[in-house]
Amino acid sequence: MIDLHTHSLFSDGELVPAELAQRAWAAGYKAIAITDHADHSNIDFIIPRMVKVCSKITEKGGIKVIPGIELTHVHPDDIVALAAEARKLGAEIVVVHGQTITEPVPPGTNLAAIKAGVDILAHPGLITEEEAQFAAKKNVYLEITTRRGHSLTNGHVAGLAKKHQAQLVLDNDAHSVSDFVGEAMAMKIASGAGLTNNEIAAMLDNSRRIVQRISE
Ligand SMILES: [Zn+2]
Ligand SMILES: [Zn+2]
Repeated sequence: MIDLHTHSLFSDGELVPAELAQRAWAAGYKAIAITDHADHSNIDFIIPRMVKVCSKITEKGGIKVIPGIELTHVHPDDIVALAAEARKLGAEIVVVHGQTITEPVPPGTNLAAIKAGVDILAHPGLITEEEAQFAAKKNVYLEITTRRGHSLTNGHVAGLAKKHQAQLVLDNDAHSVSDFVGEAMAMKIASGAGLTNNEIAAMLDNSRRIVQRISE
């Protein structure tokens, strides 16, 4: 299993990166990205520290830990520049906190994230047909999430992704140990979103492919 969307105590996660990685490893995960919440205030604080700790953990073997960021509740007009800044600072996975139905994320966020060509649009909520189509074209992965609340629209996201051939990834959005749900539960949640076994396998493969691309 792989989780390309996790949080440490550099935002609202419970653990330091080292323990987060160790707990993920113990739960059977081969790779995680640490993608803490960021805006203009902390992006340059978090990323260099993640680059340092992720390289230290990964070089020891066991689990690959990728430095990332989750741009969160920023104005859609600022997403392009912040995504570019994140990459310049060394983020290898740029996630945008999409328009989940459980929070008042600024309207236009999903579209701005896709336009910016970020890696993953997390919990895109009631993503539109046009956005799903555009995500397919821009190779932005849409997220199926195991996280409570955000997961309420998984079926909608999966349906539009299928219809428009947008690529999916499955993330835990882990903030604490119990959020690493493991393969069996992840498969159930993905099935509950209306995905077939083949579609689930393709989705899990997408995460592997992203990790491989970063490792090259
Ligand atoms: Zn989020
Ligand atoms: Zn998150």
